[in-house]
Amino acid sequence: MARVAFIGLGNMGGGMAANLAKAGHDVRAFDLSAEALDRAKKAGCLPAESTEAAVAEAEAIVTMLPAGKHVRDVYETGIIGKAPPSAILMDCSTIDVVTAREEAEKAQAKGYQMVDAPVSGGIAAAEAGTLTFMVGGTREAFERAEPFLDIMGKAVIHAGGAGAGQAAKICNNMLLGASMVATCETFVLARKLGLDPQTFFDISSQASGQCWSMTSYCPLPGVGPETPADRDYDGGFAAALMLKDLRLAMEAARSVDSYTPMGSDAEELYTRFAEKLGGGGKDFSAIIKMIDDSWQAEGAVPPPPPGVQLPK
Ligand code: NAD
Repeated sequence: MARVAFIGLGNMGGGMAANLAKAGHDVRAFDLSAEALDRAKKAGCLPAESTEAAVAEAEAIVTMLPAGKHVRDVYETGIIGKAPPSAILMDCSTIDVVTAREEAEKAQAKGYQMVDAPVSGGIAAAEAGTLTFMVGGTREAFERAEPFLDIMGKAVIHAGGAGAGQAAKICNNMLLGASMVATCETFVLARKLGLDPQTFFDISSQASGQCWSMTSYCPLPGVGPETPADRDYDGGFAAALMLKDLRLAMEAARSVDSYTPMGSDAEELYTRFAEKLGGGGKDFSAIIKMIDDSWQAEGAVPPPPPGVQLPK
């Protein structure tokens, strides 16, 4: 069993670190939040006083942080040059491709092997150890990371060189965001045309319009399998996180001059829903309520009727 440092014990990292500890690894954990550290201690990890203290003598290091700037800060001030160069570095956060590649290069220049290994699956999958990891890095780094990622996931896939894990993650989520919006507007139109939603589901889920957003994650309550729609859109994958991933996808698209009209529409729609209408905390399928005009966020100002101008 190895000594593993785990930095970032939030919604996702908390469950992931617990699974490494449960598998018998000696997990040294650090988070800026005392509450998160306390939860990790109860789950069998040994709390450390800082990132530096957690990574000293580590054989493997996992980070699960909010965004690129946190990853850059933690690697450059607390890990590179502080952890033994023999440690395998695994960043599981969802961040921009450019930062992922730069950090991997900086790590490599100091003799470390590093992978970007973002995940698909939410908090429940992090707790159950059933995440899907998309991994970017050399074949050798991937093979060193795999046994640790295997404990936390149900699938670990090598996507290519440094940054390829992040590229796969944001491409997948751009498709998911766009297909969810298309599924929502389709169900709203079907209903307005007089179709029973369950009947339309039975037809379309076996016809050429079939997609995951419909058959596995239907945005209408009571239709298809149980989904966040059946729990008033609580739990699941927050609209704010979908917006974060769509913004990363658009940033990446601009950097390589790729035309992404549907991704860009999805970004605009999730910005409106998550930020302007206050729906960021709801599951991303709740965007159907903005599309059918039934959304009423607490404290949200209803839009004026058509033709009425609000005073500035
Ligand atoms: P979170 O905000 O719950 O957790 C992040 C943790 O990092 C917090 O506990 C915070 O205190 C800690 N942190 C921040 N800066 C730190 C620093 N300098 N040193 C130590 N700790 C620090 O976020 P989360 O929901 O766990 O998500 C983590 C990552 O996983 C994000 O990149 C997110 O996009 C991605 N992700 C989340 C989900 C999800 O459903 N929540 C699903 C897939 C991917």
